[in-house]
Amino acid sequence: MTEIKQEEKEMIEEKMEESFPITLEKIERKEAEKRKKVILTTERFILLLVFLFSILFLISLYYHANPAAIKPNTPSASPTTETSEPAPTPLPEYLTSLTSETLLVNKNYPLSSDYVPDNLVTPYVNSTSDVIQIRDIAAEPLKELIQAAQKEEINLYITNGYISYETQKDYYEDRVTLIGETEANKVMPKAGYSEHQTGLAVDFTDDPSSNAQVVSFSETKAGVWLKKNAYKYGFILRYPEGKERITGYSFMPWHYRYVGVKTSTSMYSRGEDYTMEEYYEISK
Ligand SMILES: [Zn+2]
Repeated sequence: MTEIKQEEKEMIEEKMEESFPITLEKIERKEAEKRKKVILTTERFILLLVFLFSILFLISLYYHANPAAIKPNTPSASPTTETSEPAPTPLPEYLTSLTSETLLVNKNYPLSSDYVPDNLVTPYVNSTSDVIQIRDIAAEPLKELIQAAQKEEINLYITNGYISYETQKDYYEDRVTLIGETEANKVMPKAGYSEHQTGLAVDFTDDPSSNAQVVSFSETKAGVWLKKNAYKYGFILRYPEGKERITGYSFMPWHYRYVGVKTSTSMYSRGEDYTMEEYYEISK
């Protein structure tokens, strides 16, 4: 009986193992393995979190120590790109070459502080100051212009020719003291922005006793004659009336600029108040 029972039991167990391979022991083993896995996964997760937090901490430390490092990602706070005028476009060589008679100088295209034309001469013309200097290419045409005016009984005197950077600085500062910066900027270029630094600009007067530059000069015989005839000698009225928005300066009937006869004649044919900026299609 016991033997049969034992046999039966073994047979049943064998069958059980065949049909139910997972015994209690196995279930327990699997449960233990599962728990292990869970523990392992939790450990890995915590490690990952610690790792991520350390990275974040290090990044925040870096930006705290280098606040400038954040800036490239933020929109530019510089007002030059948004609110003010766009940067000047590159000009052709005949407007930028320091030896060119059509060298352009205005509020957007200045000269360097150390620029001095290397071919300045003294033209010995009537002037209100001791020595007037201008670029050699403009000297002879200027003399011819003055002589032509004399033939019509118009006496022209030069009040300014070449003006150095340093002298212009003094002139500008004096003017600011006198009338304030806003008004000064309409009539007086800052140092480096004056055409007189090129040696190609001259200021005229018909009154040798005065250096005063007044708008009423445009109504004098001399002022009228200059406006009509200066181009024949290579000079242009540089800051005409009503062109303030183009030139950046108010009407200066005494200020003429040498550009050469070819250019001045071509400009005059387009209109007696034609500006360099219009002629060369220079947008500010
Ligand atoms: Zn001038």
